[in-house]
Amino acid sequence: MKSIIVATKNEGKMKEFKDFFNTYGLKAISLLELSESIPDIQETGDTFSENAALKAEAIANHLKRPVLADDSGLVIDALGGKPGVYSARYAGEYANDQENVDKVLREMQDIPPHNRSARFICVLAIAQPDEKTIFKEGSCEGTIAFKPMGDRGFGYDPIFIPKGYTKTMAELPSEEKNKISHRKNAFNRLKNWLKTISG
Ligand code: IMP
Repeated sequence: MKSIIVATKNEGKMKEFKDFFNTYGLKAISLLELSESIPDIQETGDTFSENAALKAEAIANHLKRPVLADDSGLVIDALGGKPGVYSARYAGEYANDQENVDKVLREMQDIPPHNRSARFICVLAIAQPDEKTIFKEGSCEGTIAFKPMGDRGFGYDPIFIPKGYTKTMAELPSEEKNKISHRKNAFNRLKNWLKTISG
């Protein structure tokens, strides 16, 4: 089975990528599964695309093989787009999912239901030695709940209610999330490239 490196150490994301690549007969390998040490890449960009490219290009150059990176996050209109590119570390450099969720809920406590619109965004970057980096973006619209509900998924899933649903992302079965998510929408746009490598 052909394989592709996915530049992430996030186990929640990785589980989703493994499912996606599997449907193309490809094996996704995370940085945690590699035996060699990989340099830590700082996400210093101001946009999802910049951060995805930083990760994919640095690791593709290091390994001399194609690498896919994703940069993703939650964009909340009532918070002027925050947490955005700071989603993973919104409550502090070493904050966990629970602390990030609590901070968002505190900041949103006085925001009425009609003003709680938000979206998850995902930008995928595929870097290949000596080729131009490919970018694909996907999003998933929804609203922010008043309290966390559900224990599936990861990150902000317990407070994100996708458009057209009455449950949070963390209450949906993973197969359902993986049909509608920002990551899946971005991944779907990679179809042509995937055909070229799955041969
Ligand atoms: P990244 O590793 O810089 O891309 O961080 C992405 C962060 O955005 C994660 O740590 C989560 O907090 C959040 N995030 C991205 N995708 C999802 C998702 O599918 N569900 C919930 N939170 C997500």
